[in-house]
Amino acid sequence: MRIRTIKAYRMLQPFIDGPYKMSKGRQADAFDAVIVSLTSDNGLTGWGEMAPLGTFYSEAFAAGAEAGIAEIAPHLLGRDPRALTQIGRLMDIVFKGHPYVKSALDMACCDLAARAADAPLVTLLGGRESETAELYKVVTHGPVDTMAKVAKRIVSDGFNRLQVKVGGDVRGDIERVTAVAGAVPKGTVIFCDANAGWTPFQARQFADATRSLDYTFEQPCPTIDECLSVRRSLDKPMVLDESVTRLEDLLDIHRKGAADGLTLKISRIGGVSKTRNLRDLAVDLGFMVTVEDTGGAEIDTAAMAHLSLSTPEERRLHAIAFHEWVTVKTAVKPPPVEGSRMGIPDGPGLGIDVLPERLGEPFLELGRSV
Ligand SMILES: [Mg+2]
Repeated sequence: MRIRTIKAYRMLQPFIDGPYKMSKGRQADAFDAVIVSLTSDNGLTGWGEMAPLGTFYSEAFAAGAEAGIAEIAPHLLGRDPRALTQIGRLMDIVFKGHPYVKSALDMACCDLAARAADAPLVTLLGGRESETAELYKVVTHGPVDTMAKVAKRIVSDGFNRLQVKVGGDVRGDIERVTAVAGAVPKGTVIFCDANAGWTPFQARQFADATRSLDYTFEQPCPTIDECLSVRRSLDKPMVLDESVTRLEDLLDIHRKGAADGLTLKISRIGGVSKTRNLRDLAVDLGFMVTVEDTGGAEIDTAAMAHLSLSTPEERRLHAIAFHEWVTVKTAVKPPPVEGSRMGIPDGPGLGIDVLPERLGEPFLELGRSV
C-alpha cells in the first residue's frame, strides 16, 4: 500500500459564539485550519487537520503549516502510510522541528492505516475504553458578570465541567473565579486555566486568595519549574498543558513531581502517533490525561475523540467538541455529541465522511490519481 496523491487545503472556520478570549487581550475569531488528504494506490483516502488558536496560543500558525506541508509532502509520495513510526522519523529527518506542520500529515496516515485495516482508529490506538467521554466547556476571559452568567448557562445546558480562563490581572481574576464558583452548583468541576499568563508571585497570590474554592489549577506560569514552585505551596491538583511539547517534557514533569495531570494537544506534539505514545506513557506513570488539540472541525475532533476513548476512563479528565464551535461543516457523520458526552462515529479510520467540496481549492496537489 502506497501513498499516491496528496492534497492540502487552508480553511477559515469562524466561531459560532464570537471571539475566543484569553487573558492579556489574546483573542481569535476563527480557527485557521490546514486540512490534508492522502489517497493510496488501493483507492482509500485518509484525512488530517491542524488548526492553531490564533498565533498566540502555541508555536504554530496556519501559514507556517501551509509552507511546511509543501516542503514535506513530496517525501511522503510512494511511502506506506501504515508505517507510522517510520513516516514520523522521515518527517523529522527531512524537516527539522515544527511538530505542528507534521500533525495533519500524521493524522491522515493514521486514518488511512485504520481504513486499510478496516478498523476504527480507536482500535489501533490501543482499544476502546468506553462508549463516550465527558466534555468540558470554556468560560472565556471577560467581565466578572459575563463570566458568571456564561458559567450558569453552561451548567443549565447540562455540563458539569468548566474551564475558566484566568491569567490576567490577579485581583480581577480572583473576583472572576469567585463569581463563577458562586454561580454554579456545588460539585461542578472547575479548572482555572491561566494559559501560562502569570509569574509564580501572581499565581501564588491567586491561589492564596481562592484557597476555599474547589478547582484544579492549569498551567499558571510558562515553565515547568515556575509551575513547580507554585505547586509546592498549593493544596489543589495541578495540570500542565503548554509545557508538554515532547517526551522530554513529560519525563521532566514526572521526575520533578510538577503535575497531577497533563493536557496533550495533538498538533503541539506533532500528530496522533506521537500523542498516543505520550498518552500511553503518561497513563503508565500515573498522570490524569486530557487529549485534545488547539482547534479544528470534524476531522480534528474525530482524532481527539479516538485518542480520548482509547485512554482508560479512570485516567481521563475530559474532552472537547471543537466541531460544535464553528460555523462550517467539513464532514458528515461527525463525532456524536449527546448532552455532555461525545462518542466516535461508526466505521473504519476516523469514521467521518469528509465533504471535499466544502474545503475550497487545494493549495497543494501532488501525485497522480489512480
Ligand atoms: Mg489549557
